[in-house]
Amino acid sequence: MSNVPVAVVTGANKGIGFAIVRALCKQFPGDVYLTARDPGRGQAAVSKLQEEGLRALFHQLDIDDLQSIRALRDFLKEKYGGLNVLVNNAGIAFKVHDTAPFAVQAEVTLKTNFFGTRNVCIELLPLVKPYGRVVNVSSMVSSSALGGCSQELQQKFRSDTITEDELVELMNKFVEDTKKSVHEKEGWPNTAYGVSKIGVTVLSRIQARMLNEKRKGDHILLNACCPGWVRTDMAGPKAPKTPDEGAETPVYLALLPSDADGPHGQFLSNKTVRTW
Ligand code: NAP
Repeated sequence: MSNVPVAVVTGANKGIGFAIVRALCKQFPGDVYLTARDPGRGQAAVSKLQEEGLRALFHQLDIDDLQSIRALRDFLKEKYGGLNVLVNNAGIAFKVHDTAPFAVQAEVTLKTNFFGTRNVCIELLPLVKPYGRVVNVSSMVSSSALGGCSQELQQKFRSDTITEDELVELMNKFVEDTKKSVHEKEGWPNTAYGVSKIGVTVLSRIQARMLNEKRKGDHILLNACCPGWVRTDMAGPKAPKTPDEGAETPVYLALLPSDADGPHGQFLSNKTVRTW
């Protein structure tokens, strides 16, 4: 088994994930795994970094596929005995003009952004070594979507005692409410992406709390962040930040020094803790 530190980035064949891997290759003292659901796109991305003189390793990971997640888990367990840095970056967003029914957009978006991210965490968080760093890439849209929720929902999502089961129930309820076209009446905002990212931010707060309760002495720091508005296939060419600039806050959180005792359980943008 290798003692080399290891970092894993999801959805890293392009966009912000690719830029996070690029930065980690330069700054992280260990093996950096660029993961992608499509091996062809993933290997091509690794080759691109190689041309820049950077060494990333590749492992397949489709966060929608439990088998794929577990294959990565087993690989990390066997080769490294765990992992040191996990960046949950993979995500999707329907384009504004997409004509797919809102209920379909809700189900598909939540499936990847919330449930897929959560499944990766269920399998990989127990493997995170002491002094490990976990970064869940959320969005400022999670904050604006929270503001668009009913007072009752806002209270639940801001609660310091909400459980993961309760959050899962709420995320499922949103999808079901969209199918019955009652989501607005039930207090939800009209954004599937926004609700999925509320899920990611609240999940991060819960996970940090669980780490405090169960692994206090392990000094693991886990946070959610927004990369900013970044020029990628998702956000389009008008966004002001380059992918490398978008990677800055996630990479800052992934590389928090071993003597840092925070941030932990926070939501950050531009390397600054934001009020949730
Ligand atoms: P992007 O260019 O569309 O890249 C998304 C990445 O996620 C791609 O590599 C994609 O792989 C991957 N992915 C999607 N579904 C996946 C799955 N099931 N399993 C594994 N990988 C999957 O988007 P981006 O702008 O870089 O976004 C990265 C993250 O930042 C997302 O979580 C996004 O919500 C968040 N974010 C972005 C912005 C922005 O302005 N760009 C702002 C706030 C937050 P394929 O190539 O195979 O599709």
